Amino acid sequence: MTDRYTIGVDLGGTNLRVAAYAAGNSLLETISLPTRVEKGPDRVMDDMCAAIRELEKRHADGREFAGIGVGTPGPLELPEGKLHSLPNFPGWDGYPMLASLEGRLGQRVHLESDANVAALAEYHLGSGRSYGAASLCMLTLGTGVGNGIILNGHIWDGNNGMGGEAGHNTVYPEGIHCPCGNRGCLEQYASATALIHAAKIRYTGKRDPVPTSAAEIANLAREGDQDALEIFDGAGRALGISLATLINTLNLPLYVVGGGVAGAWDLFETAMMEEVHSRSYVFRFTEPSEEERRQRSPRKTSIVHAELGSEAGILGACLLPLVANGVAKSLGTIHSCAAPA
Ligand SMILES: [Zn+2]
Repeated sequence: MTDRYTIGVDLGGTNLRVAAYAAGNSLLETISLPTRVEKGPDRVMDDMCAAIRELEKRHADGREFAGIGVGTPGPLELPEGKLHSLPNFPGWDGYPMLASLEGRLGQRVHLESDANVAALAEYHLGSGRSYGAASLCMLTLGTGVGNGIILNGHIWDGNNGMGGEAGHNTVYPEGIHCPCGNRGCLEQYASATALIHAAKIRYTGKRDPVPTSAAEIANLAREGDQDALEIFDGAGRALGISLATLINTLNLPLYVVGGGVAGAWDLFETAMMEEVHSRSYVFRFTEPSEEERRQRSPRKTSIVHAELGSEAGILGACLLPLVANGVAKSLGTIHSCAAPA
């Protein structure tokens, strides 16, 4: 059988990454460019398409091209492929991204939100594979809180592409105002932005310099700093409250927490699990025993740290065309030698 390859794009607020992926094997090559957000969406699409054509040219030899997948920050309206107001992309509201890409490239493009493609990668190449789970729900803790739901191998897009926006589910009704218009969204308590904001409030006038990243706050917590420990405890509680709602609603075998903040899993796990346990009877009825935990039983409800690191977005984008064409399933095991352990 001729080797297949796909091209995937991970569009971020800072970096635009475009990669060629050999189906069933690994990332062949990644081009990383700055995202020229300030130049407007058309210029960024030009950059993206130039990199896609470049990779198509370099990797076509002896391989069958299986399509292009793109992961973009949401909210994204599907099937139209139209962007809505993006917090870090001023002037992009209403941009017809899918039509713009397909017009430039003259071929079909598979477009999804970044949190959905990260969940797809985790499903096929990470914890979804380890647990043999048919479905999963993933929360990605980054600049915001992304959410992707995979049901029986398919991304749950909902009616308008906006299924899986649990980052904006209410945790505290009278809580912090969110740019989405709501108050007390999960994103306001468990994203890196939220942790940095909380640190600024707690440390201004108390510690100089004030920590400016989630990793710095985590370092302080591990040194025993009480404020930092409380910040992560708060994030864990908000996550636990949200997960309890998701578990009661979906009853899936696997809930995955990924993104940069998930690196501080040890600092928020206890509070998160306390909340899940007390608020979700579905969880209590389906909680794995120690033995079932070791065996990674897909018949139970597991809440785990994502297995894929920062490559989840680009890998998921590369998988999109394979999943759409039913290839991913027939491959059986898709290996990911590019993903960090
Ligand atoms: Zn919100």
